[in-house]
Amino acid sequence: MIRMSDESKKHIISKYVIKKQKVSTRPVAERIKDFQEVSLGLNKEQAILEANRCLQCPKPKCIVSCPIGIDIPKFIRCIANENFEDAINKIREKNGLADVTGRVCPQEKLCQAACVLANKDVPITIGALERFAADVSIDKEIKALKSNGKKVAVIGSGPAGLTAAVDLAILGYEVTIYEAFHESGGVLTYGIPAFRLPKEVIGKAMRYVKYLGVKIEKNVIIGKSLTLYDLFELGYDCIFIGSGAGSPKFLHILGENLNGVYSANEFLTRCNLMRAYKFPEHSTPVYVGKQVAVIGGGNVAMDSARTALRLGANDVRIVYRRSEKEMPARIEEVKNTKDEGVKFMTLANPLKILGNNQAHVTGLECIRMELGEPDTSGRRRPVEVKGSNFTINVDMVIVAIGQKPNPIISRTTPELKVDKEGYIIVDDRGRTSFEKVWAAGDIVPGPETVIEAMSGAKNAVKDIHLYMKRREEKELVLNPVLAWKF
Ligand code: FAD
Ligand code: SF4
Ligand code: SF4
Repeated sequence: MIRMSDESKKHIISKYVIKKQKVSTRPVAERIKDFQEVSLGLNKEQAILEANRCLQCPKPKCIVSCPIGIDIPKFIRCIANENFEDAINKIREKNGLADVTGRVCPQEKLCQAACVLANKDVPITIGALERFAADVSIDKEIKALKSNGKKVAVIGSGPAGLTAAVDLAILGYEVTIYEAFHESGGVLTYGIPAFRLPKEVIGKAMRYVKYLGVKIEKNVIIGKSLTLYDLFELGYDCIFIGSGAGSPKFLHILGENLNGVYSANEFLTRCNLMRAYKFPEHSTPVYVGKQVAVIGGGNVAMDSARTALRLGANDVRIVYRRSEKEMPARIEEVKNTKDEGVKFMTLANPLKILGNNQAHVTGLECIRMELGEPDTSGRRRPVEVKGSNFTINVDMVIVAIGQKPNPIISRTTPELKVDKEGYIIVDDRGRTSFEKVWAAGDIVPGPETVIEAMSGAKNAVKDIHLYMKRREEKELVLNPVLAWKF
């Protein structure tokens, strides 16, 4: 039997005595008038207290449940000891986007769900601590990394592309990111609104990427301005594709082409990337109705509804065909959305969008649904209740039922195998069917979250590095002159 000293006993008891620290949010009445961040995070005192609750488990399940394997107890211990710089350095060993993941990662289903204290309903708020460590870290130049002389082109500057770029740069590769838009960050910039992910946070993350020596070429559409073949011609040793799934899916129902119907992609891109949310400071307004229906139950639907509310809509409704339990959105965001006054119309499916003689939306015809047997996703299948049609008055509809990949790269690269929806097919190392080309993130089939995109990119980088090392070894064997030089 292990004998515990009185000091250790006191230490453990004190951990149980500290209360779980609550992350506060701005008052609803204030926050729905602007786009400033809703969550206030933990302050210094709270972060230290929360970090002191961590039991520093010898076999921490939290690490295993983080898709990128951050050493959670170690960084938390640094916070408990008030070594905040060590905390962010520990996180950055695995995660160059801690400011982002600390805010948008579905922690409640990952690291926090696995925390041993979740059994007592008081898991450590790991995401909030990660955010704290990132927020208090100071921007600073990083010592130039030694180049290994190999060049990699990364397509897309979303979480997948940025993570691949960071990891490759740390390994010594010369990395250039090619981004189609005039701003980098992918969905972090043009999708997720500033009230969840402030633009300064993305700016800070981007500076870290640049400090590592990564170059970013904006306004370059791969597949149009340059092809994958051109990139090889330019001397890149390999290519990583992280081009995401930026094309909206539609309902294919009558009335979808009426004025006042938006895809969530278009609506959020106009608000975030084109800065409609800063009108009149930016002269790029977007139409927002007074009665808005948002179709879908994911994070994109919640973000669209809350954006519409902030831009002047009086009545915003989420229309979702399953029940709230099946909603894919983060629990915290569903709560925030409801708190802000968005109504939830669950178990309802749109059948037709109605319009007036000016071809503008006037209503939405729906049908009631009930839940049947589970489908391939494991969620109960929604089934129509016959004859239960009803109509609601709306002057704007936002369709947020998912995205699919843009085919521009695959169409110009016949070697690249894609599935029937256009997702790039990769093996478990992230390799595509085209030699020297890897892919990860939303462009490959699988879950669509920031952390999964990052995890896929890390996996691909590991294989790129292995591949490059093997190729170098082969070259040395085949070319004795080169071997002599080394
Ligand atoms: P993206 O972020 O889409 O980045 C791809 C980049 O590639 C883009 O910048 C694009 O412009 C560029 N690109 C595309 N084609 C080309 C080309 N041909 N040439 C050059 N560049 C190209 N996930 C969470 O975990 N938590 C959340 O709370 C959350 N909320 C979300 C809210 C919204 C509104 C949306 C849309 C998504 C949300 N997600 C969330 C999902 C998450 O953002 C994505 O899973 C993630 O961004 C995928 O990363 P990615 O790098 O693969 O793709
Ligand atoms: Fe948890 Fe996500 Fe941070 Fe990993 S990256 S520790 S899963 S919040
Ligand atoms: Fe700390 Fe929870 Fe991880 Fe244990 S499982 S080390 S208590 S965060």
